[in-house]
Amino acid sequence: MTNVAQNTQKILEKDLHEKFTFYGKNALKWKRKCTILLPEIAKYRIWEKKGFSSIYEYAAKLAGINNASVNVALWAMRKIEDKPELKRVVEEKGIEIIRPIANIATPETAAFWAEKAMGMSKNTLAAYAKEYKKSELGSPCADSKNYYENQTLFSDLSVEQITMDLSPETAEQLQKLKGQGNWNELMQKLLQAYQARVEAKKPIPQENAKRYVPAKIEKYVLAKTNNTCAFPGCTKEYKYLHHTWRFALTKTHDPDTLIPLCKPHERLAHAGLIENENQPPENWKIKLEADKTSEKWLKVDKWVAEHYAGKNAGT
Ligand SMILES: [Zn+2]
Repeated sequence: MTNVAQNTQKILEKDLHEKFTFYGKNALKWKRKCTILLPEIAKYRIWEKKGFSSIYEYAAKLAGINNASVNVALWAMRKIEDKPELKRVVEEKGIEIIRPIANIATPETAAFWAEKAMGMSKNTLAAYAKEYKKSELGSPCADSKNYYENQTLFSDLSVEQITMDLSPETAEQLQKLKGQGNWNELMQKLLQAYQARVEAKKPIPQENAKRYVPAKIEKYVLAKTNNTCAFPGCTKEYKYLHHTWRFALTKTHDPDTLIPLCKPHERLAHAGLIENENQPPENWKIKLEADKTSEKWLKVDKWVAEHYAGKNAGT
């Protein structure tokens, strides 16, 4: 091909792609509008009056909405009937984003959830909602003093049971080590031994560093959780090494403040929604509002979001 022909071809392809993107965006927008109408279509049985065998057939043939989406739409739209803020979110981002919060949002918290849903992906929102439910934030009206008293009471008495599939040899060895003691003591001892072994190889922080996390530091940080996300209660595999002291400011890879996180929890950290982020992850909790006073941090987080780096690059 000549240069001219090549350029013409390039322009044609660019034009095709732009058209496709534009039409696609509009198609999604109109589909969302259809989704919002579904509860009323169902209520007045309009599908029946127009000769369709079910609302599923009606939605599929007229708007290309599949059965699963109809179910989500009918369920979630009923949940948010009295929450106009969340209806607007559906119009902007589709029905799926509502799923993680449909059961916990109330008319009083609808605006709060709408703001979160607009700024987060569905997975990040789901992770946030899960923590919200667990924490006292889930019952803002509850008597907080009472709540903390109850918490202490329960944590003193609480016992967690886990089941393990072990080979007979491993089971025998563990039973032996436990002897007449209890499992918690034995597990504590084993954990301490594991931690001591990891700590013995703790590298020194690297200052004035490039973004790339040195292998020694990465290895140490990952050994601490055995490649698991460090957020309390999360057992997902880590996806990012997160700098709790933002790397862009410190230019340091510090093995103590470099934390492996899964994608949703890393997003929450960068959204400024983790309390005590500069302490070890055992002390982390989610926050209701991002800290607006630390402007500098937010600027860096915005920068990180824009120049998003891939796995292991550190964030
Ligand atoms: Zn996680």
